[in-house]
Amino acid sequence: MAGSGMPGTDVLIVGAGPVGLTLACDLVRRGVDCRVVERETTPNRASKAKTVQPRTLEVLDDLGAVDHVVRHGVADLPVRLHEPSGGVVEQPSITARARDSFHTPYPDPLWIGQFDVEHALRERLYELGGAVEWGVTALDLVQDEDGATVSLRTPQGDSAVRARYVVAADGGKSAVRQLIGVPLEGETNEEQRWYIGDVTAGGLDRTRMHVWPSDGGMLILTPLPHSDLWQIQTPADPATQPATLTREFYQRLVDERAGAGAVTLTSADWLSVYRVNVRMAEDYRKGRVLLAGDAAHVHSPAGGQGMNTGIQDAYNLGWKLAAVTRGASPVLLDSYGAERIPVARKVLALSTEKIDRTTEQATGDVASLSATLGEITDDATTTGLAVRYGSAGYRAPNVTGLHGSALGSDLFDLLRGPQWNLIAFDSDDPALPALATPDHLHVHRITSAGRARGGDDIVDSQGEFQRIYAPRPGELVLVRPDGYLAART
Ligand SMILES: Cc1cc2nc3c(=O)[nH]c(=O)nc-3n(C[C@H](O)[C@H](O)[C@H](O)COP(=O)(O)OP(=O)(O)OC[C@H]3O[C@@H](n4cnc5c(N)ncnc54)[C@H](O)[C@@H]3O)c2cc1C
Repeated sequence: MAGSGMPGTDVLIVGAGPVGLTLACDLVRRGVDCRVVERETTPNRASKAKTVQPRTLEVLDDLGAVDHVVRHGVADLPVRLHEPSGGVVEQPSITARARDSFHTPYPDPLWIGQFDVEHALRERLYELGGAVEWGVTALDLVQDEDGATVSLRTPQGDSAVRARYVVAADGGKSAVRQLIGVPLEGETNEEQRWYIGDVTAGGLDRTRMHVWPSDGGMLILTPLPHSDLWQIQTPADPATQPATLTREFYQRLVDERAGAGAVTLTSADWLSVYRVNVRMAEDYRKGRVLLAGDAAHVHSPAGGQGMNTGIQDAYNLGWKLAAVTRGASPVLLDSYGAERIPVARKVLALSTEKIDRTTEQATGDVASLSATLGEITDDATTTGLAVRYGSAGYRAPNVTGLHGSALGSDLFDLLRGPQWNLIAFDSDDPALPALATPDHLHVHRITSAGRARGGDDIVDSQGEFQRIYAPRPGELVLVRPDGYLAART
């Protein structure tokens, strides 16, 4: 950057949606010099994605942004299916609790509007000393071997910034992705369009989601916790779509699909049409530019994976990008796409299968719709906890009942933070403490209850570490900064 005469930064993040904000929190807490530019002048107020999956909650916990989400989210949101006859069928929440074998402190997906998740991340970013530059649009990008020059439109006029790396977190229509010539391969299903919006409605029980199957397509109203808003979703027919979406038009749809007088929409905050695109980039990196979140993959909302997959992209990328800006080989960045592209591929396939099945059942009888809704999520895949990188790298599970740690009694309390972690089990190796560095590697000596000697030892008082990790005496377990197992030796 030196000598270019224009402001420089190590990383320029384009877009302050949930993905850009996650990456910004991770980079800022690592002390990486980064800027976040956002085209809009104010924060997003639309609910869009409305479930946060267990793995994402673990990520938010590590970043220090989980409290607001836990306080504002709702774990159990049962479903009321309204039959055309006027009868109702009650069924459990369509979100599935993660199976016990994942050992997560956050087994329940939480229902919460995307604006609330973004709020939590933004507040955390500010707390860490980061900022969002509002009303700043990335217009053009030219890259060379050392970095990229990005032209910006700002409220003060046009300017340019020189960045060593640029991350496109600018959503499905990503201008940055287009500027570097990476296509989103796949298809747009013109048949599958959904009206969506945030509305207020009187007289509905807010402790549950309401679903009405109908010949015109099902109508779904989901209460957004800690607000008086409902997210409304219903299939759209392009032939009758008006030029402007209004509350009155949505009311007519509601009357058609739920029956006249069933629900009165009293106001509408945000109304939009959602076209189901099933597309992804075949490469997440071109030179100095990386793609993350919707900029890299878009798919149907079935299974609640869009925002979650994107946040997990950012979390995979953060520590690698930080390491490369500090001198690690840029080859490390290739592992980002190598690890995350297969994840997106699976998410695309699964969410397409789910939306097709749900749409087929939308006009059918309540019993089959009920069965299909029950399969929208599961206790493994949609939680994000089953993701593996390569054949070996699986997520390090949590362990409870550890004693002697000043931090807490969970393994996750020891792992929390931007560093690598080395866990030594029943090891007397005197050289271990010297390996530790405050910023990069923490060493934790965990001993079985019978061998505890005091000092810095952390005692596996209930034998949980032994049960879950099945370590051999003296074994070393190396955990990556993003909570994945790197090596056991
Ligand atoms: C109408 C709608 C409904 C949705 N419903 C659901 C749902 O029900 N369930 C679900 O799982 N997912 C849903 N999604 C998807 C979910 O919202 C996304 O997966 C999630 O927002 C992705 O986050 P992101 O940060 O990658 O992108 P975004 O949230 O799109 O954020 C990108 C940000 O970049 C900014 N930006 C764009 N271009 C530029 C530029 N040139 N310069 C500077 N800033 C720029 C944008 O203003 C935006 O703030 C929905 C999306 C939409 C649009």
